[in-house]
Amino acid sequence: MDQLAQEIIADLKSYLEYLREMGIESMTASEERPKEVFLNSSLLPPMSPPLEEVRKELGDCRRCKLHRTRRTLVFGEGNKKTILMIIGEGPGYEEDVQGKPFVGRAGQLLTKILQSIHLQREEVYITNIIKCRPPQNRNPEPDEIQNCYPFLLKQIHAIQPKIICALGTFAAQTLLKTDAKISMLRGRFYEFTPLENPAIHGGDINKSSRRVESTTIPLAESSLRHRKGEGKAPSFLTGFAGIKVVPTYHPAYLLRNPERKREVWEDMKKISQWMADHVGIPARPAGGDSYREEASHPVGENRR
Ligand code: URA
Repeated sequence: MDQLAQEIIADLKSYLEYLREMGIESMTASEERPKEVFLNSSLLPPMSPPLEEVRKELGDCRRCKLHRTRRTLVFGEGNKKTILMIIGEGPGYEEDVQGKPFVGRAGQLLTKILQSIHLQREEVYITNIIKCRPPQNRNPEPDEIQNCYPFLLKQIHAIQPKIICALGTFAAQTLLKTDAKISMLRGRFYEFTPLENPAIHGGDINKSSRRVESTTIPLAESSLRHRKGEGKAPSFLTGFAGIKVVPTYHPAYLLRNPERKREVWEDMKKISQWMADHVGIPARPAGGDSYREEASHPVGENRR
């Protein structure tokens, strides 16, 4: 048997052990791959395709109904080698018109938030969970998330950020596969773990994602093993190892609730400190939460 075949078998064995530890004892074999199980090694090759390839593969996407109403597909923009990736919910009106993420009022506030920790917009990579604007800015639907999620994963895989800042309830709940409130999730560090079915929430945060602070709720021991380096992680997870997710409030929510800006400021400082401590980015003096004083006008939701 050649080496590649041996590696595939070893990976498979490791994956089956991993499933057994998660309590999955049996699997039904089928000719057809179940639709929602898209997360496999053929979709995520060990050598991640460059971002341009991911964009090319997405093409003039018609995988879900949003293509009928969108004006422009908003893929994402910014530094392809960034340490910090920002993930929002989905394009709003302005983004749909311009084809760029976070360019409306919420986007301007995001720019200020980044500047408060001495980051320019161009230094980070900004994208959304879904790439096309839902009509009337309604919430994204499960099939829309499912169709977009593999591409989001490929973006993450290609960029290899150290931290993902999830903006708002929707991004945080999707990335962490939980129904927990953003007020509970925000300001904490979680291990990023790709999901097999991102559109199904309702998971227990203890089981679905792994907090990495010391004051955590008890974690599912079995799912932690790979993170602790005990045993070999299944190959499809290795391209994501060590990436942290830090949720915070969405800038559009801050426009409606300016009293929450202090908390976002605290969260951003934690991100900045983590980068200083772990990635060797020199700690720069905090710039102050100047965005706190900005006048706020009520908006409907996170994509206006
Ligand atoms: N809100 C989002 O979540 N994303 C955008 O790109 C703009 C507004």
